[in-house]
Amino acid sequence: MGPQTGSCLCGATTFTATPSDEAAGVCHCSMCRKFSGGMFIVTDCSGAFDFAPGAPVTRYQSSDWGERAFCSRCGSSLAWLSRDGKMAFVSIQAFPDPSRFPVTHELFIDCKPASYGLSGKTTTMTEAEFMAQYASSPEGGN
Ligand SMILES: [Zn+2]
Ligand SMILES: [Zn+2]
Repeated sequence: MGPQTGSCLCGATTFTATPSDEAAGVCHCSMCRKFSGGMFIVTDCSGAFDFAPGAPVTRYQSSDWGERAFCSRCGSSLAWLSRDGKMAFVSIQAFPDPSRFPVTHELFIDCKPASYGLSGKTTTMTEAEFMAQYASSPEGGN
């Protein structure tokens, strides 16, 4: 998949991103749920993500290593970005055709509210499993 253009609800914030593959993941952690107002479904665009110059983006630092970017005008939650700029996980909802990104994995599955769930088959990881794999590296966490 080549470079894609995405946008927020109001259109004031646009970006260019190149997804590394066509897979998407859901993070069920409380921060992602609060940030997105739902399930935060993202695709990995690390190393290939740029907001348009002058886009009215606010970055909220949610942890030592991560920040969340949203449109200052309409509030659309758009991406989780590592503060070192190396990683970018972008909401599939911001792309013109989210259907291009089938959900293949779910993180923090033990933090998912019992009131809903995905019907498709996915690979899941609990918070403890995630932390065991990533906590020692600066890429880990939210
Ligand atoms: Zn907007
Ligand atoms: Zn999360």
